[in-house]
Amino acid sequence: MTRDLTHYSGGAHRAGMSGRFGDVHNPATGEVTSRVPLADAGEVAAIVDVAAAAQPAWAATNPQRRGRILLRFVDLVNEHVDELAALLSAEHGKTLADAKGDIARGIEVVEFSAGAAPHLLKGEFSDNVGTGIDVHSLRQPLGVVAGITPFNFPAMIPLWKAGPALAAGNAFVLKPSERDPSVPLRLAELFTEAGLPDGVFSVVNGDKVAVDALLDDPRVEAVGFVGSTPIAQSIYAHAAANGKRAQCFGGAKNHMVILPDADLDMAVDALIGAGYGSAGERCMAISVAVPVGERTADALVARLKERIDGLRVGEATAPDVDFGPVISAAAKERIEAAIATGIDEGAELVADGRGRTVEGFHGGFWVGPTLFDRVRPEMALYREEVFGPVLSVVRAADYEEALRLPSENEFGNGVAIFTRDGDAARDFSSRVQVGMVGVNVPIPVPIAYYTFGGWKASGFGDLNQHGADAFRFYTKTKTVTTRWPSGIRAGASFVMPEGS
Ligand code: NAD
Repeated sequence: MTRDLTHYSGGAHRAGMSGRFGDVHNPATGEVTSRVPLADAGEVAAIVDVAAAAQPAWAATNPQRRGRILLRFVDLVNEHVDELAALLSAEHGKTLADAKGDIARGIEVVEFSAGAAPHLLKGEFSDNVGTGIDVHSLRQPLGVVAGITPFNFPAMIPLWKAGPALAAGNAFVLKPSERDPSVPLRLAELFTEAGLPDGVFSVVNGDKVAVDALLDDPRVEAVGFVGSTPIAQSIYAHAAANGKRAQCFGGAKNHMVILPDADLDMAVDALIGAGYGSAGERCMAISVAVPVGERTADALVARLKERIDGLRVGEATAPDVDFGPVISAAAKERIEAAIATGIDEGAELVADGRGRTVEGFHGGFWVGPTLFDRVRPEMALYREEVFGPVLSVVRAADYEEALRLPSENEFGNGVAIFTRDGDAARDFSSRVQVGMVGVNVPIPVPIAYYTFGGWKASGFGDLNQHGADAFRFYTKTKTVTTRWPSGIRAGASFVMPEGS
């Protein structure tokens, strides 16, 4: 039995009225578990109406009170974490432990936003910039803002956007991925339960039609997007053409450089987790390993092969599973096609994940861990984002070649270097043309009070997600110049007037 999901607006679920639905699958079984309504422009406008009506009172609520509601929400998420993780895994396919990580990294940003907002919303003040003239600035919320988010982190990315936006006094409209919309809907219920006023957080489910309606609605002041690069770039252009603020984060091709002096056990552990965890469906997954020198490369590939043979692929709730299915039948087909292309291009297939099956889950979207050696930069396998459990080894002759590869790659999300040499690590961190760098850390996702954002085709816009940048993105600056005429002070009498 499939159930029909809803939108969420004004503190309650709203049935879809467009008559259009998308199927939501359990990727481990391939079964359709629910239908998600795909909003039309009228439904989007109605949800924005409710958000716009609710926003002024929320903005007028002082920031510490807003923060307390957000902290109550964090408590509720923690209380319900097992239920949320199960819901997340059932639609996404990632393991329960990984689903809990998705939730934890989301609420860290809500916690940060709750505490930091009163501080980060402070303006500046200058006394006596001219005779008797003072200047001060205010940071005010934008109004209604929207978030458009991908399937791969259905809790974390919506909360990375909603946390700072709400803490700054905006109303937030989320258009989550149509592949796994149940966690966002449950988060909306928990916001209401935490005491967030009705209409301040909404969920509109949908596809391009809903996204275009948000981008064309003049009341939506800003759009935060995360997803694939072509969509990120087109949403950035569409939002800018309509005079909106936009920050749009795109795809990735993250490299991990392994120098000959690296701790190879550490590097192999890191590559296995960062390459295959969550079936490689992380924007910070490592998809390219760059060992420096033939000896390092031979040793690395041999050890990776051993470890890959022992990886367990399976259903998210089964014990000891390393990673689950990919998100959809189309994703499986695309990843298997990328593997075939790699073979045709002459890369050396060391482990082939095609045709993987899992006992008892024959309809699931399974792809096993795949490893290619001797991949070259001109191959499509190297240039294009695969977004699956496929790791490519590109052998570099020396350090400078290893530094050039991620720097010249179209994408610039994350990169890592494994070495024991501080000088090499320092030089690499300084010169590499990538937004987030790990030194002996494979997935350098910055903590909530720093900011997250890739360079080049991995990010469009000038401010990053979370940290102080998020408060700049979700507020506008007003600057007030003040002069007071001389008044009562000069001629005022402080003596009790005597009766005449
Ligand atoms: P996607 O681009 O297909 O979808 C992202 C969002 O855009 C969804 O809400 C979707 O409904 C909407 N969308 C899809 N097509 C659209 C269109 N034509 N017009 C308007 N909206 C549209 O991405 P996905 O498959 O959900 O997510 C995977 C991608 O996201 C990968 O490329 C991954 O690297 C990237 N990603 C990037 C980051 C980052 O921080 N840079 C983080 C996570 C994921």
